[in-house]
Amino acid sequence: MKDTQTTEDFTSEYFKEVLTIFFDALPDPIFVINQNGLILRVLGGNSHKINCFPNIVESQYLHETLPKEIADVCLQTINKAIEDDSLTCIDYEVEKEHLSPEFCSNQFYQGRIFPLKQHESDLRAVLWIAINTTEKVLFTKKLNELATKDELTGINNRRYFNGVMKRTFDMFQRDKVSFCILMLDVDFFKKVNDNYGHDGGDSVLKSITCTLTESLRDIDLLARYGGEEFIALLPNTNMPDAFIVAQRVRLAVEKSIVQHGAHEIRVTTSVGISEISPEDKDYESVIKRADVALYAAKNAGRNKVVIV
Ligand code: GH3
Ligand code: MG
Ligand code: MG
Repeated sequence: MKDTQTTEDFTSEYFKEVLTIFFDALPDPIFVINQNGLILRVLGGNSHKINCFPNIVESQYLHETLPKEIADVCLQTINKAIEDDSLTCIDYEVEKEHLSPEFCSNQFYQGRIFPLKQHESDLRAVLWIAINTTEKVLFTKKLNELATKDELTGINNRRYFNGVMKRTFDMFQRDKVSFCILMLDVDFFKKVNDNYGHDGGDSVLKSITCTLTESLRDIDLLARYGGEEFIALLPNTNMPDAFIVAQRVRLAVEKSIVQHGAHEIRVTTSVGISEISPEDKDYESVIKRADVALYAAKNAGRNKVVIV
């Protein structure tokens, strides 16, 4: 069979047909919207899971079909793309109430907004492609969580804590605003595991996490540093204030009762405190001093706060 088509055919009916099929096959929806927010065309979006915006209807205005705050943002973005005369991208989340019923959770999109050329005396318009990025966004979120959160307790892990410590240490070099570290370790935790099993130990760790979170201040950063070891960064805090916080935390743990099945488990913690000093060459040395103080608290009989 011979090729009979030429490039000129792409200006003809044939090209129109190609375009129609292209839009029909496209999984992501495309909207043509003018600068006043009038929806001129709805194209594509034919992957049944993606054709999602029942509220975006041809011949209606965005403000007629979407909640005002969303319509406002859409219109601002459209006008920015027209003003800049260039592709504008926007990432957004759409609540499931505004999606078609087959969606059982909120969806994330990247809007790619291309300004169209002025057509005679018509108002300017844009092509808005809504690419569903939900899988990618959730995957990235999960990866980020795995990298920064402790699985058992849900609080920050050591890696995340060390990252914040490094930045806080660098800030201290510039602004000299003091900070303190509390290093906490559960006393005789091995006995908890021996008496109540690993599950019992896990319940204690989760419960201590809540007690610590409640007795620290909102500005403090708590992390699980190891097995039954926690660490807290107390920004903008000097040693006397850190000591008050540490005593409050220690007492809160001492008073709390962990319900594990029919058992009531009580534990105590030892706490070591250190404060940043101008002699510190790196953040590790501040943590090291808190660790030395913690060791001293253990040697002093446990359930104690020790300062270095
Ligand atoms: P000390 O007062 O000197 O701190 O004594 P300790 O028994 O608390 O310390 P030790 O280091 O001897 O024991 C800590 C135990 O914590 C041993 C380890 O099996 C247990 N552990 C570490 N991580 C976990 C965890 O995620 N869950 C549970 N249940 N146990 C853990
Ligand atoms: Mg311990
Ligand atoms: Mg320990």
